[in-house]
Amino acid sequence: MRVLVTGGAGYIGSIVALRLVESGDAVTVLDDLSTGHRDAVPAGAAFVLGRVHDAAELLAGRRFDAVVHLAASSLVAESVANPAKYEENNVVGSRRLVAALAGLGADRLVFSSSAAVYGEPDEVPITEDAPARPVNPYGASKLAVDGLLAEQASLGLLGAVSLRYFNVAGAYGGLGERHDPESHLVPIALEAALGLRPGLAIYGDDYPTRDGTCVRDYIHVADLAAAHLAALERAVPGRHRVYNLGNGTGFTVREVLSAVEAVTARSLEVTIGPRRAGDPAVLVASSARAASELGWVPERPEIATMIADAWRVLLARRS
Ligand code: UDP
Repeated sequence: MRVLVTGGAGYIGSIVALRLVESGDAVTVLDDLSTGHRDAVPAGAAFVLGRVHDAAELLAGRRFDAVVHLAASSLVAESVANPAKYEENNVVGSRRLVAALAGLGADRLVFSSSAAVYGEPDEVPITEDAPARPVNPYGASKLAVDGLLAEQASLGLLGAVSLRYFNVAGAYGGLGERHDPESHLVPIALEAALGLRPGLAIYGDDYPTRDGTCVRDYIHVADLAAAHLAALERAVPGRHRVYNLGNGTGFTVREVLSAVEAVTARSLEVTIGPRRAGDPAVLVASSARAASELGWVPERPEIATMIADAWRVLLARRS
C-alpha cells in the first residue's frame, strides 16, 4: 500500500510510519515539524515538510491508497488557553486534508482520535457508545473530526476509522516520547529518575480510587501502532467505525511511579500537589470492539514493559 502518514515525525506517528515501512508499505510522511522531529522519520519513508492544510499542493502528482492522519496539536492545557489554535490546526486542517484526498487517489483514512472526546465518563470501562461530552477544546476538536469523517463516509466518499487512544507509553525501534514541554506522567517520572528534573508532583491524592490517585489505561505505543495497521486493512469505503484503544486495565499514578522506581532501580522525589483541572478520577477503555472487529489485542499490556522500553530509549538518547 502507498500510505501517507501525517504527523509522522511525532511520537506516535513516527512509530506508525516505522511499522508500515517494516511491513513493506510505501510510506510518505507529511509533517510541519512544529512539534515533531525530522530524525524520527524512519529511514525508508519519504518526507514532505508542511501542514496538512496544504496537502493538495504539497503532494500534487503523488498517489496514495490510504492516509493515517495523526498531525494535530495535542496539549489539553494549551487548548483551553488557545481554543482557536485547536480549531485551526485540528479541525480546519483535517477538513482541508479530507478535501484533498480524492485528488491524491486515497479513499481510506485512519484518524488519531482520543479518549478526550468522552470527558467525564458515567461508567467505566468506556465503550464507543458512551456519550461524547468533551470537557476541553482539544477533545472537542477530535470529536469534530470524527463527525466530519462519519459524514464523508455516509456520502460514500471515504472509508474511515477513528481510533480513540487512551494513555500511550513506551517506545519502539529507538523512537520514544520527546515533547517540549513534557506533560505526560511516564516521561516526566523517567526524567526525574534520571535526574533531569528534581522530582515530580502527583496531581491529587484524594480521588475515590484504590490509593487516592487517578487511574488511567496505559497502552504500549507499539500496540497502538499495530491497531493503525489493522484499521487500514479493514477500512471500507462508505463506512466510518470508531474504536477505543486501551488495555482495559487501569493503573493509578502511584502504581505507575512504583513501576518506574522498580524498572529504573532509582527512587523518586514525589510530592502531592493539587488536582489538575479536568482530570477525571478513572479513565479505562473497553476495547472489546477493536478485539472483535480488528482482531486487535495488546501484546505488551504490562506497565513495566512500557516503562522499560521508554527508559532504554531515554538512556540511549542521553548517552
Ligand atoms: N500526572 C501527575 N503528575 C504529573 C503528570 C501527570 O500526577 O506530573 C497524572 C495526571 O493527573 C493523570 C495521570 O498522571 O491522572 C496521567 O496524566 P498524563 O498527563 O500522562 O495523561 P492524561 O491522562 O492527561 O492523558
